[in-house]
Amino acid sequence: AQLQSAFIAKNPASQRQFETQAQYMPGANSRSVLFYAPFPLTMARGEGACLWDADEHRYNDFLAEYTAGVYGHSAPEIRDAVATAMASGINLTGHNLLEGQLAKLICERFPQVEQLRFTNSGTEANLMAINAAVHFTKRPKIVVFSGAYHGGVLTFGAKPSPITVPYDFVVLPYNDVAAAEAAFATQGPKIAAVLVEPMLGAGGCIPAHAEFLNALRRLTTQACALMMIDEVMTSRLAPHGLAAEHGITPDMTTLGKYIGGGMSFGAFGGRADIMAIFDPRTGSLAHSGTFNNNVVTMAAGLAGLTKLYPPAAAGALAERGAALRERLNARCAKAGVAMQFTGVGSVMNSHFTSNPICRPEDATGFDPKLRQLLFFHLLANGIYTAPRGLVVLSLPVTDEAIARFEAAVQSFLSTYADVL
Ligand code: PLP
Repeated sequence: AQLQSAFIAKNPASQRQFETQAQYMPGANSRSVLFYAPFPLTMARGEGACLWDADEHRYNDFLAEYTAGVYGHSAPEIRDAVATAMASGINLTGHNLLEGQLAKLICERFPQVEQLRFTNSGTEANLMAINAAVHFTKRPKIVVFSGAYHGGVLTFGAKPSPITVPYDFVVLPYNDVAAAEAAFATQGPKIAAVLVEPMLGAGGCIPAHAEFLNALRRLTTQACALMMIDEVMTSRLAPHGLAAEHGITPDMTTLGKYIGGGMSFGAFGGRADIMAIFDPRTGSLAHSGTFNNNVVTMAAGLAGLTKLYPPAAAGALAERGAALRERLNARCAKAGVAMQFTGVGSVMNSHFTSNPICRPEDATGFDPKLRQLLFFHLLANGIYTAPRGLVVLSLPVTDEAIARFEAAVQSFLSTYADVL
C-alpha cells in the first residue's frame, strides 16, 4: 500500500493521461497486458535501453516491449533503414524490393523454414499456421498446452481469452509426455497438429524439457500430424531459434516480434509442400493483408537481423541473460527465500516458490501481492519490468544497468525477507 501511494504521488501526468484516455478507450487500453492498478505508466520516450515516463522519470528498460524490443530504442541502424524506405514511398501497392530479401534471410537463419509468408502479428501467424495445418491434413484437432499463449485470441492460461477462433483445441499439460502419448493414443487420427512454445513465455518463462519436445516430434510423425513450434518469443534466445537448439525440426514455425525490427510483424512458414497450399497459382488457400509486406517493417527487419542481431549476437545476448539468471537465483538461495527466476537466455520470469517449475501449475499458490511488491519495488528503484514478473534484456542494456537491476533485487530480498 505504501509503495502504491508513493507511485500515485510520483506520477500525476501518467494518471491524467490514463483518466483522459479512459474516456475514449475502455480502461484507456488496447493491450490488456499493459494494465495494472492503480494506473499504468505512460511512456514518453526511449533511448538505448532507457525509458522516460510522462512525468520525466528515467527507467532502465528491463521489459523491452515484451521481448519484441531486442534492438532497444531508436537504434541508428533501424532509424536509417526506415528513413531510407520512407524516402522511396511506403504504400507501393505491389511487391517491393525488400520482402524477398527478408524472406531469404529468415529461411537461411531458421533452416526448418523452407518457405514463409508475412503477417502483421504473431497472433495472425499462429492463426494462419493452424489454418494451414487443418487444410493440409484435413483433420480437425489442434493440440495446445495449458498456460500457453499464442496471441490475443489464442490464450490457454489461467484466465483464458474467450476463444473466438473456431478450432477444435485439445488442451494438455505442458512438459507431460504421458499425457501427450495418451492423447495421441485415443485421438491421433483426428489431430492435425501440435502447436507448442519451446518455452512457455507469457505462461511464466518455463522451458520445455528436451524429452517433451522429442516426444511431440515422435508422436506427430507417427500420427502423420504436424509439429508446429511457436517461436514468436523464443527465436531470439539462440542463434537459430530454440527449436534448433534442441535439434528439433518442426513442420511449421511461427515467428514475430523483433524480426520486424521493432515494427508490426509476424511470419509463418515451414515445409514447402505445406506452404504450397498458399501458392496463388496452384494452392487452395488465400491469405491476405494490406500491410503484410509493408516496406517499413521489411526494411527495419533486414537492418536488424543483418546489422544488429546476427546469429552470434543472439548467442552472446543469451549468454548474458543466462549468467544474470544464475546470479539472481544464487542471491535468492543465499537469502533463503522461496523465490526463483526461470527462463532461457535473455528472457526470464520471477516466481515465489523454490519448488522446481515444469508447468504453470507448479508456480501457483503464493500470494499474488508478492508479484506486485516486487514490481513496485523495482519501479521505485528505476527499473521497468512487467507486473507478472517478466524480465527481458535488450541489446543496448549495459553491464552497469544490469548491476543496478541486481542491486534492486538484492534490496528487495533484504527489505522483504520476512514475507518471502
Ligand atoms: N506467440 C507467442 C509465444 C507470444 O509470446 C506472442 C506475444 O507475446 C504471440 C504469439 C502473439 O504475438 P503478437 O503480440 O505479435 O500478436
